[in-house]
Amino acid sequence: MWPYLIIASLLALAAWLAWRLRRSQAEAEQLRTQNASLADGQRLAALQARAQETAVFNSMVEGLVLLDGQGRIQLANRQFSRLFGAGDNLTGKTIIEAARMHEVAELVDGLSADEPAHGAELRLPGLPDRWLEVNAAAVFDTQQRRKGTVVVFHDLTRLKKLERNREEFVANVSHELRTPLSLIKGYTETLLDGAKDNPEVSLKFLQTIDRNAERLKLLIEDLLTISELESGRIRLQLQPVALKPLVDKLCEDFKPRAASRDVTLVNEVPDLTANADSDRVQQVISNLVDNAIKYGGSEGTVTIRGRTGQDGTIELCVADNGPGIPEDARERIFERFYRLDKARSREQGGTGLGLSIVKHIIQCHGGKVWVESEPGKGSRFFFSLPQG
Ligand code: ADP
Repeated sequence: MWPYLIIASLLALAAWLAWRLRRSQAEAEQLRTQNASLADGQRLAALQARAQETAVFNSMVEGLVLLDGQGRIQLANRQFSRLFGAGDNLTGKTIIEAARMHEVAELVDGLSADEPAHGAELRLPGLPDRWLEVNAAAVFDTQQRRKGTVVVFHDLTRLKKLERNREEFVANVSHELRTPLSLIKGYTETLLDGAKDNPEVSLKFLQTIDRNAERLKLLIEDLLTISELESGRIRLQLQPVALKPLVDKLCEDFKPRAASRDVTLVNEVPDLTANADSDRVQQVISNLVDNAIKYGGSEGTVTIRGRTGQDGTIELCVADNGPGIPEDARERIFERFYRLDKARSREQGGTGLGLSIVKHIIQCHGGKVWVESEPGKGSRFFFSLPQG
């Protein structure tokens, strides 16, 4: 009996052991599957975080580069590639290989634990002129070993251009103010030194002083208008403006000036109504008619025409039959202080700001200004305004 009992117990034990073994194998398999899916999940989360990071870096307006401790690129965003024309896959390259500018590499190499951040302005080689502000910051560990570097590139080109325009404007204004002022001062001193006792000479000198004081007044008025227009503070009083009677009135005002140069003024504007600021539109037409009389040549004709434009706007045109404007100057004459003939403009009392004011006013109305001209056959200045 005993041997049977022992055999049965051993069989039962073997069966239990086999079941236990199968169970542990199944548990181990389950654990492996769980670990694998956990690792997959972590990898997916890491990939998602990386994709999000890349999207954020690529949406930055600044160029950005992350370097590892050995100075190799770990990440470079799209704007960096665009600024330096550096292509897409920059991972593992050095900054000099990617940016091809030794100044950038020197800036990065020059960082130390004592001076871990530094910035500089750089001009990119080639044309047109482009400027960058570069800021680099390095991270060091407690043993002063370099762990990595962040380099940020900011495009300064637009700011530099604005700065240059402002400097040019100030230089031009100073020059324009200085000329009449020194004439006024010179003639006044000569009068005080004794010329006042000669009635003939003093009359001539006083007329010159008066002319230059008038020039200063016009210049200051135009400068104030330009500054008001450019500041964006200008508030247009928009209303329906009947253009034909407005041009009639202007022609009447300009009659003596036109007559002094034997110029005939013709108003051919039909019944048109614009939605505009009446005073500003008068200023635009006055500046264009004044130029047409000044530069159109004596005994000429200045004609003001109007029509409805193709896009439903109103288009006005001031035409003269003077010498016209060479093609390469047609855009530039709308710039502040640009003149084809400086001496002629000054002699005619021009400030060099008339067309710039015209352009600003029309643009404030949402319109356009342009000129058509054939050298020797006159000029036609056009502008558009919204219909009233
Ligand atoms: P300005 O005070 O010198 O007249 P504007 O800005 O009004 O300044 O004009 C700029 C320049 O454009 C003028 O100096 C002149 O050389 C040129 N210009 C303007 N209108 C005419 C025109 N109708 N015919 C020929 N040249 C013109």
